[in-house]
Amino acid sequence: MIPAPFDYEVAESAEHAVELLGQHDDAKLLAGGHSLLPLMKLRLASPSVLIDIGRVSDLSYVRDAGDRIAIGALTCYEDAHFDETLKSSCPIVAHAAGEVGDPQVRNRGTIGGSVAHGDPASDIPTIMLALNAEFVVRGPTGERTIAAADFFKGVFEVDLAPQEILTEMRVPKTSSGWSYLKFHHRAQDWATVGVAVVLGDGSNNASVALTSMGERPLRAQGVEEALAAGEDPASAARRAAEGTNPVSDPMGSSEYRRQIAPVLTRRALEEALSR
Ligand SMILES: Cc1cc2nc3c(=O)[nH]c(=O)nc-3n(C[C@H](O)[C@H](O)[C@H](O)COP(=O)(O)OP(=O)(O)OC[C@H]3O[C@@H](n4cnc5c(N)ncnc54)[C@H](O)[C@@H]3O)c2cc1C
Repeated sequence: MIPAPFDYEVAESAEHAVELLGQHDDAKLLAGGHSLLPLMKLRLASPSVLIDIGRVSDLSYVRDAGDRIAIGALTCYEDAHFDETLKSSCPIVAHAAGEVGDPQVRNRGTIGGSVAHGDPASDIPTIMLALNAEFVVRGPTGERTIAAADFFKGVFEVDLAPQEILTEMRVPKTSSGWSYLKFHHRAQDWATVGVAVVLGDGSNNASVALTSMGERPLRAQGVEEALAAGEDPASAARRAAEGTNPVSDPMGSSEYRRQIAPVLTRRALEEALSR
């Protein structure tokens, strides 16, 4: 399909992108284009203007920021996957970035684009939720910081105003006690179900988050509560589907996903405890 006609602007900086967003109604930011352009080709999105932020190179970085790692929104998956700072200080992000799509997707798609898009089948939002990440957003009145737990609202719905741009994600240093397991039918596919585990200072203080189990990335609260109460991982994992509402689609029925989630959660907890 061919997208509806649109105008095209190039932003030189985050501030310039905000300014351009303010000048046009119904404009959309274009980062890697790997989610937005398919939607436009299907005419599920028809922005009147695309504001290309893909050349704002100073939003592509990974930095050690004390007790956190700062990731620029335009960092592509491939750069995050091979980044030495992430590999040593927050390897779950480097690992999950390498699990996304194929090499073409990983070289064009951005970590910030994935977070801003708010697709419940995406891998990175689940990782951000499990890590209790913070997101930095710039708008016409300045900057604000939002917790990942408050950011994801629904299917393709996030806490971003029309004139705002996501500039940075901040994740805590977490070098051990982690896992991200993604169940998919074919290599390089989206997750039928994904489970992220971050143990914190032990299994009774674990964060467990789920991909493709509802309208947004979800915390597996039942599992976290069971672990906090001292249950062993195998028993706690049985509560993984509690409070979830997965879709039925060609990848699997809702019931299938609810069966997979506890098994994958047990394996993810075991893997996290082993490293
Ligand atoms: C074949 C294929 C396979 C894929 N497989 C997977 C997979 O296995 N796992 C997975 O998680 N994803 C997968 N994806 C999606 C891919 O990861 C996308 O690249 C990503 O979801 C969006 O990032 P992007 O940079 O391409 O964003 P774009 O497509 O450019 O933008 C997406 C949306 O976010 C907005 N946006 C982008 N950046 C910002 C910003 N900085 N601030 C505010 N708004 C912004 C845009 O306006 C748009 O609404 C796949 C995509 C394809 C085409």
